[in-house]
Amino acid sequence: MDNSTLIIVIPCFNEHEMLPITHERLTALLHEMIGSGTVSERSRILYVDDGSHDGTWDLIEAFTRSGQLECGIKLGRNSGHQNALMAGMDAARKMGNAVITIDADLQDDISVIPQMVRYFAHEGCEVVYGVRRDRHTDTLFKRKTAEWFYGLQHRLGVRTVYNHADFRLLSRRAVDELFLYHERNLFLRGIVPMLGFKSACVHYDRAERVAGETKYPLGKMVNFAVDGITSFSIRPVRMVFKLGLLFMAVALVMLVYVLCRYFAGDTAVGWPSLILSVWFVGGCILLGLGIVGEYIGKIYIEVKGRPRYNVEQRIIK
Ligand code: UDP
Ligand code: MG
Repeated sequence: MDNSTLIIVIPCFNEHEMLPITHERLTALLHEMIGSGTVSERSRILYVDDGSHDGTWDLIEAFTRSGQLECGIKLGRNSGHQNALMAGMDAARKMGNAVITIDADLQDDISVIPQMVRYFAHEGCEVVYGVRRDRHTDTLFKRKTAEWFYGLQHRLGVRTVYNHADFRLLSRRAVDELFLYHERNLFLRGIVPMLGFKSACVHYDRAERVAGETKYPLGKMVNFAVDGITSFSIRPVRMVFKLGLLFMAVALVMLVYVLCRYFAGDTAVGWPSLILSVWFVGGCILLGLGIVGEYIGKIYIEVKGRPRYNVEQRIIK
């Protein structure tokens, strides 16, 4: 499939400092790719203004007036990075047959974009992940918390691509499948691998943000991390049940211990019944919570209404 029509989607929240730089570099790249025939001349750059209040939209409007390739969507209010991406991809799937999402700060290396398109156009990959080679530009804190978080997710059974954020290429088909996931707590990094289509990774070094500041302060980062786990795994609930079982086991051990002490005659009045109640009642409460949690976990999975499967190919005559 030659001559792909590529739409580059860029979520922007208060990025007026960064956008002129981003815009210059991206248009140069896209013109070059169109010139060399890597992508068709219907390819576009699509800015999604996520409810900015710093003149970001004025900039985007100016870009669309002066250039051929630029398009813009303005969201009515700040809806969050992941929702801005969805809004962009929804529009993009009607405009082209491949979508690349990339953050406005260009911390991700745009020079790998042609390689992503090659994987799509020549190798039939429906998903191409941009993967950071290492995180030496991040602070030690961000690096360590990220490593710990990936590890935790993995243990809890959430499949993600290590060191991949939201820089990726999706074919139109992959985006269509993605839109079958109707959940509100979006964690795209977890959903995209669930599609399971033919995929590839391109590696790059992540740069530092050259202008503006991060739109993910610690609080937002923690919320996002919690979403990344609770949107995919009900294992934390199961842990409560297991903890209940553990408490019950301890209650049994305590029973033996208390009886020994009692018959040896060195227990204070009231101590045996008290200590046994503590462990037994604690265990009962945790088991009860675990059982209720199991049902809530089921409701939660049903409520998400995720597709049961994603079709990769159809040969029907
Ligand atoms: N962003 C957004 N809405 C938000 C927060 C962020 O669209 O509510 C965009 C932001 O403009 C940027 C991208 O999401 O293009 C990633 O944000 P940032 O680079 O600040 O995150 P970091 O790289 O620090 O994790
Ligand atoms: Mg960034």
